[in-house]
Amino acid sequence: MYRCEARTRLDNDVQATAELMPTAFDSIEWVSDYVGENLFHCELEDVPHDHHAAFLRNGTSREPCTDVYLCWRDESGPQWLEDVEVCLKVENPMAPGCTIFRGHPGKCDWEYIGPSMLAVLVQSDHFVRELRLSHLLAFPVSPAERQEDA
Ligand SMILES: [Zn+2]
Ligand SMILES: [Zn+2]
Repeated sequence: MYRCEARTRLDNDVQATAELMPTAFDSIEWVSDYVGENLFHCELEDVPHDHHAAFLRNGTSREPCTDVYLCWRDESGPQWLEDVEVCLKVENPMAPGCTIFRGHPGKCDWEYIGPSMLAVLVQSDHFVRELRLSHLLAFPVSPAERQEDA
């Protein structure tokens, strides 16, 4: 039920390769502005998997939607890139679905415990509360609707 703890730094030549890959979108969306400095954290659940994988940038295809993943086995070993279709298996309140690649081992990204997931949960709870509040302010509930709620 926990996230894999594997981390690695992006090799310069792998980054250069990723910069040369085309994109189906207006521009390449990187995982962050500091790709070269970033410590990449495997996004899979902590179940046995063939290699680690972390989102690097958006993919070369829009339909189906793909993402480019940084893949590695050991921190000191070779890295490679995979342009793979997004999972999107199950809907969740914050996004169209799981953002890990299709066929990934383990559970989908919000079904296991990871620090980033906890942050998203806190955020979504806050967001839902704000949404309810603004909804009430913008659309006062009519007497008929109130009866339906009761
Ligand atoms: Zn892993
Ligand atoms: Zn998934």
